[in-house]
Amino acid sequence: MKALEEKILKDGVVLNEDILKVGSFLNQQLDTEFIMEMGKEISRIYSNDNVTKILTIETSGIPIAFSAGVEIGCPVVFAKKSKSTNVSGNLYTSSVYSFTHNETYQIMVPCEFLSKDDRVVIVDDFLANGKALNGLIDIVNKSGAKLIGCTCAIEKGFQKGGDTLREQGYRIESLAVIDEMDSTHITFRCN
Ligand code: 5GP
Repeated sequence: MKALEEKILKDGVVLNEDILKVGSFLNQQLDTEFIMEMGKEISRIYSNDNVTKILTIETSGIPIAFSAGVEIGCPVVFAKKSKSTNVSGNLYTSSVYSFTHNETYQIMVPCEFLSKDDRVVIVDDFLANGKALNGLIDIVNKSGAKLIGCTCAIEKGFQKGGDTLREQGYRIESLAVIDEMDSTHITFRCN
């Protein structure tokens, strides 16, 4: 998505060789109009796939997933990272290692929100080593739903999570793929 590449070049901050900050439009402050544009793009990608549900993970995946759900016209389910009193009943769970927080946590989705009849697209903000996607894919598989594909706004191609999943046969359609980045430049993968 050309507009996203331009936005990253304009507003993204390379914190170190592994982390890109996009707090001004995606992670802390939300550029609502731009996020709706990302939703339109996700809807276009899956326009022939009869998607019935978007699945994401709290917190930063939710705005993009919401915009995709609005455009596709389907509900959005998000996996929680901690159990609270309003999460009850039977749960699909998986464990996810976060390299940004250096910890492993349990993600959970109530069984009532995913069924074998669902056709699911997974959406998240970043794709790095693929741990978050692996956890979400595990949950889709446990539910018996059909996984159509995965779309992250920003894939850091040099961290290989996306390419590994592609090699395993998954449909991974990131909106922008960064192949190289440092404090002076960001290079995107040609598509
Ligand atoms: P993965 O599970 O693919 O290794 O990492 C993806 C998750 O880590 C995303 O859900 C995202 O929240 C976080 N993440 C990974 N890399 C970055 C990054 O460069 N910047 C930000 N803001 N979050 C990241």
